[in-house]
Amino acid sequence: MKHYDRVALIGLGLIASSMAHAIRAGGLAGEIWGHARSAETRATALEIGLVDRVFETAAEAVAGADLVVLCVPVGAMAAIAAEIAPHLAPGATVTDVGSVKQAVIEAVAPHMPAHVQFIPSHPLAGTEHSGPRSGFATLFVNRWWLVTPLEGNDPAAVARLKGFLAAMGANVEEMEVTRHDLVLAVVSHTPHLIAYTMVGVADHLRRVTHDEVIKYSASGFRDFTRIAASDPTMWRDVFLTNKEATLDILGRFTEELFMLQRAIRMGDGEMLFDYFTRTRAIRRGIIEAGQDTAAPDFGRSPPAETK
Ligand code: NAP
Repeated sequence: MKHYDRVALIGLGLIASSMAHAIRAGGLAGEIWGHARSAETRATALEIGLVDRVFETAAEAVAGADLVVLCVPVGAMAAIAAEIAPHLAPGATVTDVGSVKQAVIEAVAPHMPAHVQFIPSHPLAGTEHSGPRSGFATLFVNRWWLVTPLEGNDPAAVARLKGFLAAMGANVEEMEVTRHDLVLAVVSHTPHLIAYTMVGVADHLRRVTHDEVIKYSASGFRDFTRIAASDPTMWRDVFLTNKEATLDILGRFTEELFMLQRAIRMGDGEMLFDYFTRTRAIRRGIIEAGQDTAAPDFGRSPPAETK
């Protein structure tokens, strides 16, 4: 069912290309227009039929669109918002998919003209891959897509956007902005930082152990490397813009780590056993909530037909 006449995707990487596939699969928009920074990405987008038309500038791509989705790294949002502002159609909805919400709102909202609805959002779905070829139509299926409406947003525009996101298969929920940034610091941002650190440590060790860390890497380390392969630009921007919440959670993490370190030093097996029992229950809860599977590849491979 068609939700918008023309969707403009600004940035054509993993999230935008997955949206393009999902929009096409569901017939959710009349047309898809797009913009990417590099000529290479624009050529790929046309070659694989991601979008109907692709433009060198974001300003051209948004003209006449009734939905504009900003799919660039968080640090690039302000410049894009300033560029597109004079070209947005009256009545258009603008949303973004940035992993941090407060910083994106501060970057984008001041540029938005009164005749458009800026409704920030964030899909809790992704992979460690990036670029226009990395997307697949089912990325958002049964994943959360959080919407953080702003004061003064038109309820009808919010409801229409939520309907569109749900039509891509997402479970759509509203969340307050500050809460979003704190929750994401716990479930996504800090775990990524820890993975980057663990792989960094192993990289140092590799020089001592002559590549055995890589050769014998078991699933624990392999999982860290998957997360630590995520896009450097995106994650640099996430940490620079969700600074307070990430530092808060990192502080708590460090305290727990010292506690476990002490338990190991003191031989406190009971403490370790109780701790790991609690964390195991959290993993079961995630599987029961349908957010992952117990399969050996942790359910992270896209379905066969989208590989
Ligand atoms: P991606 O695959 O790396 O794609 C980023 C796109 O933005 C590319 O088309 C790139 O153009 C363009 N771009 C990069 N810097 C730009 C700039 N300075 N000006 C204009 N365009 C620029 O990224 P993604 O994973 O789709 O992430 C996009 C957004 O989604 C980010 O805000 C991220 O926080 C959010 N997000 C990501 C995930 C995830 O797991 N990946 C999950 C949820 C939300 P070129 O290709 O031409 O360089």
